[in-house]
Amino acid sequence: MHALILFAMMGLFSTTNEPPEKVWTKLEYASDVPAAIDAKRPRLVYLDPGHGGDKNHGCRGWDGRYESEANLLLALDIRRHLEAAGVEVLMTRESDVDVPLYDRPREAHRIKARAFVSVHHNAPAAGKDPLATRYRAVYSWNGLGKELADAIARELDPCQSLHANFAVTRSPEIPSVLIEADFLTHPDGCRDSFDPAVRDAIAAKIAAAIAAYLK
Ligand SMILES: [Zn+2]
Repeated sequence: MHALILFAMMGLFSTTNEPPEKVWTKLEYASDVPAAIDAKRPRLVYLDPGHGGDKNHGCRGWDGRYESEANLLLALDIRRHLEAAGVEVLMTRESDVDVPLYDRPREAHRIKARAFVSVHHNAPAAGKDPLATRYRAVYSWNGLGKELADAIARELDPCQSLHANFAVTRSPEIPSVLIEADFLTHPDGCRDSFDPAVRDAIAAKIAAAIAAYLK
């Protein structure tokens, strides 16, 4: 009975594997630095569509389209919803160009963003069946980031808030998260990611979580 209820609640993501990491590890030394805030721009979000350009496509989707395109489309939708909620948004890229990985968090720090949100789409680890791997996750590294990751994961339910030491999640001063919105390598995940209506609904939830977090 419980299994049936759980299965029904999983809904959209009922065919998924579990993500590899389940436990968020608290790192004491990285959790207690106050966020750097520009008093003149208290609601500035730095959005980062992952990858981009000719040589950094990210993963290849089920239909042959690349992650870099899906990331940009979702980030642009998130920006529209955030701006409608009165949140100021800057982006690492607004077209199909590459931005060096470490320039992305560096710029977030320079502009004193209130939040740094990297947008990605996923592919399974080597050896995992792409047809059986689909889940949604938000990654953070320290206490600052986890609060924002938890807020986004709650809004995107089912979605896990996980720990990851990524270049774009490590800032000790800027609440920083990386969203893996879906699996492009799964046929349903790829279809949903490139469906404007489905994507817009996901973007609205992410933006709502970010806007609420900034209040
Ligand atoms: Zn990626």
